Amino acid sequence: MRNPIPDGVSAPQTKRRSLLLAASGAALLGVTGLPRHAGAAARSPNYFADLPYALDALDPVLSANTLGYHYGKHHKAYADNTARLVTGTPLEGLPLAQLIAASAGKADQGALFNNAAQTWNHAFYWQGLRARGGGEPPAELRQRLEGAFGSVAAFKKEFANAAITQFGSGWAWLVADGERLKVIKTGNADTPLAAGLKPLLAIDVWEHAYYIDYQNRRADYVNAVLDKLIDWDFALRNLG
Ligand code: FE
Repeated sequence: MRNPIPDGVSAPQTKRRSLLLAASGAALLGVTGLPRHAGAAARSPNYFADLPYALDALDPVLSANTLGYHYGKHHKAYADNTARLVTGTPLEGLPLAQLIAASAGKADQGALFNNAAQTWNHAFYWQGLRARGGGEPPAELRQRLEGAFGSVAAFKKEFANAAITQFGSGWAWLVADGERLKVIKTGNADTPLAAGLKPLLAIDVWEHAYYIDYQNRRADYVNAVLDKLIDWDFALRNLG
């Protein structure tokens, strides 16, 4: 699963961020964002990661219709935009995590940051869901959650609350800040990678994530994902 990240990041960044991105960013996912050539004639970078299951695998919690639009349209558009923005530039071919580091906080790189971060966030989100997920986390993760939040139930409540109360579009995350586990929320395309945090789990609370199946009932979507789809083993693997 672990893919090597090329050395020689040209973008200025902190040592801590660089280490975290190299150690936890794309490598965690097995999604490097490196070019995948669809055919001999294809030379543009392809940042559109494969969905790790069929479009109907998460039904009925998330329908095939939702995944068709969310993965097939929204995620693909972010990935295609990222490829278009870096093609022919010195950034072409860099993994997503390095594109995020290169564009974060730069006013003239907002489009690249938004599209690269959303491409990465979505690949991470899909990896953190699975059919017949939810239930109890494995013992090692349960102990870490109990240490940080008091109980698994308290963590789920804080995570759900962050997702439900994120104003407008964005994300809720379980992250590791060094050895400390925390729940945070980010707006729009923002990603914990840009803050030097290690993402463990994510839930997308853009309306496109739930409106087909849940309309305005974001809380129902969040709780259904937590109870029935969340892949605790993915979070544990990300702890490393
Ligand atoms: Fe989304």
